[in-house]
Amino acid sequence: MTETTDRRVRLTAAARSVQDRIERACAQVNRPAKDVMLLPVTKRFPASDAAELARLGLTDLAENRDQEAGPKSLSVAELLPGVGVRWHMVGQLQRNKIKSVVRWADVVQTVDSLRLAEALTHGVAAALTVGDRTSPLDVLVQVSLDGDPARGGCPIGDVPALVDGVIRSSELRLRGVMAVAPLAWSPERAFDLLSKVAGRTRNEYPEATEMSAGMSADLETAIAYGSTCVRVGTALLGERPLTSP
Ligand SMILES: *Cc1c(COP(=O)(O)O)cnc(C)c1O
Repeated sequence: MTETTDRRVRLTAAARSVQDRIERACAQVNRPAKDVMLLPVTKRFPASDAAELARLGLTDLAENRDQEAGPKSLSVAELLPGVGVRWHMVGQLQRNKIKSVVRWADVVQTVDSLRLAEALTHGVAAALTVGDRTSPLDVLVQVSLDGDPARGGCPIGDVPALVDGVIRSSELRLRGVMAVAPLAWSPERAFDLLSKVAGRTRNEYPEATEMSAGMSADLETAIAYGSTCVRVGTALLGERPLTSP
């Protein structure tokens, strides 16, 4: 087999096996499997891998660094003309990167402060004006479950004010909440808490239906607590290279 076919076979098998995990986890808690999206996180893997996954029907893809995602999204568009990929930003977002991020991102899952929401609003408005975008930006509010600001995320007490700020922006569309489970916590504790924040947000704004939670190691637990989007890197693509392609 050539290297490309070999990689294609591996990614196809890995995608099948992660889909099976999602289906089993949904069945356990009587949720329809279609309510949980598998979002591959392609960071540090080449555009060719991202394109293979999109070819398999996984047309929502996530990245965590602007410098890598911008060029990769262009390469994938060249490799797969006519296939619309929805790109999600899942990494911490520096405000000096916003101008670039709003050109490639369809969704930013890591909005964690009013300052960032305001800066994104301005960035999206400018991009709409010059034709670099044609639609508002879907956003998730990233929640810091343990209140440790180091890893990004909005402290739980500040979520309502941030949600209100996002709602007031006509350039942003609130879709829900996202979190990464704190390393020191059990996934149960983390996703139980996030599901409460998600529920409160949804009560206030019914269109905020998304709860982005769960990665390769803990996606079953996240699904049990209501995740609608599992962000999976390693289980699909293998161990991540240390540096970007
Ligand atoms: C890298 C990354 C993931 C994927 O992690 P895996 O453990 O490799 O599945 C999920 N979410 C975020 C925010 C990430 O940066």
